[in-house]
Amino acid sequence: MVPTVGHWIDGQEIESTGESAADIFDPATGRVTGRVALASPERVVQAVDAATAAFPGWRDTSLARRTQVLFAFRELLNARKEELAEIITSEHGKVLSDALGEISRGQEVVEFACGIAHLLKGGMTENASTKVDVHSVRQPLGPVAIISPFNFPAMVPMWFFPIAIAAGNTVILKPSEKDPTTANWLAELWAEAGLPAGVFNVLHGDKVAVDGLLSNPGIKAVSFVGSTPIAQYVYATGTAHGKRVQALGGAKNHMIVLPDADLDLAADAAVNAGFGSAGERCMAISALVVVGEIADELVAKIKGRTDTLKIGDGTKDSDMGPLVTKAHRDKVASYIDAGEKDGATIVVDGRTVQADGGADGFWLGPTLIDNVTTDMSVYVDEIFGPVLSVVRVKTYDEALALVNSSQFGNGTAIFTNDGGAARRFQNEVEVGMVGINVPVPVPMSYYSFGGWKNSLFGDTHAHGAEGVHFFTRGKVVTTRWLDPSHGGINLGFPRND
Ligand code: NAD
Repeated sequence: MVPTVGHWIDGQEIESTGESAADIFDPATGRVTGRVALASPERVVQAVDAATAAFPGWRDTSLARRTQVLFAFRELLNARKEELAEIITSEHGKVLSDALGEISRGQEVVEFACGIAHLLKGGMTENASTKVDVHSVRQPLGPVAIISPFNFPAMVPMWFFPIAIAAGNTVILKPSEKDPTTANWLAELWAEAGLPAGVFNVLHGDKVAVDGLLSNPGIKAVSFVGSTPIAQYVYATGTAHGKRVQALGGAKNHMIVLPDADLDLAADAAVNAGFGSAGERCMAISALVVVGEIADELVAKIKGRTDTLKIGDGTKDSDMGPLVTKAHRDKVASYIDAGEKDGATIVVDGRTVQADGGADGFWLGPTLIDNVTTDMSVYVDEIFGPVLSVVRVKTYDEALALVNSSQFGNGTAIFTNDGGAARRFQNEVEVGMVGINVPVPVPMSYYSFGGWKNSLFGDTHAHGAEGVHFFTRGKVVTTRWLDPSHGGINLGFPRND
């Protein structure tokens, strides 16, 4: 009998009765290690009711006190992050150092939110009209929902909830059902940090939970991160129900290497960005676009590096762990099969990997495929696995056209020593996050994270100033204190004299 991860509602984990549940796997062994409750429509209402009841008290809690709770949360997270990394590795499969990396990137947003007082300051104009003052404020929205993917169970929720909570909203986090335990661990940490019950809730589940949140009038805004078809659905459904929605979708990130680039630097970057976290990153590089005559040399350098990678259990001394589920592992492997059938050259074949882990783990090694053409499914689709496709082109213009014709526009990178070429690229490329000799250009917390085209639905990116904007709404107050000189009837439109 394995334990069941229950919902966290109104300050406590509640026992799940009468609901369905899903298995949680350890990807390194293939074993079922737990179950997670899947919310019924009634459970969704219970969570929204808790977040709704907690909202007025939290909204009216002073900014000073709210910030103190944020600081306490940051201190606890920083002190106990190894504990959280182990949970992430046990359910997601990524290696411990990678899990710690995602926690620290999430922690940066907590630190950003600790300074939210500065960003919540409004403007004030004295005597805008005669004896009339005007000031603006930004106020919280109410209960908001965060729906997150499996690949960053800590970082992606932390792109949103520190800012939402610091701004005075209450939160329902609906994490991925594949690695749900992180969310409850974070909920316990909030309680320890002094956050009042009901301000941060965790609702586990699948489409039923998501649909319940999208249609519930109590939810005022939705931050979603996941695959493009679901992001599109969440955006359309949430906005149709009158909600503010930001829905971050999938990706297919290109790295362009120009002939003048440092090829050792480019090879290191391609391996790190292609195979880190087994390619299960929305900012992973999956298409390497090599310009000119350098392709043979670069492919050889990448192959040499790939051959030395250690694949195994994330708790051991491995560079890369397993994929998240058996179904996902098999789907990624089927893209390699398709690439081979379509005539691409399999330079490194991850299907035959010998991993240092359980015999039934969801293993797939790093895979390097050369001579990929743009009509192959291995190039067109988001694969979300350790598969790096090399596309050979003759010119910069051809390379740029490839990136710009993709349906996705999340991240991209260019490797070159030519400042002029890099500058031209950053201007011309239709992608939200650009790296120049940086393969995974994830913005700092005080900038905003988000892609273009089918990588983001909505107009607000995550965290930074845009995150504060998303979780607040503006109000402008015009004030005149009573004064006998203001008397008199005038039905005309108010003018400022
Ligand atoms: P997913 O779309 O399968 O799931 C995301 C969330 O949606 C989960 O909470 C899941 O429970 C829920 N969901 C799944 N099916 C649903 C349905 N039919 N209706 C409503 N909700 C549903 O994504 P995933 O496999 O967990 O994560 C990987 C995807 O996320 C990749 O496409 C990746 O590119 C994307 N991603 C994007 C970013 C970004 O910033 N753009 C960041 C991380 C991950």
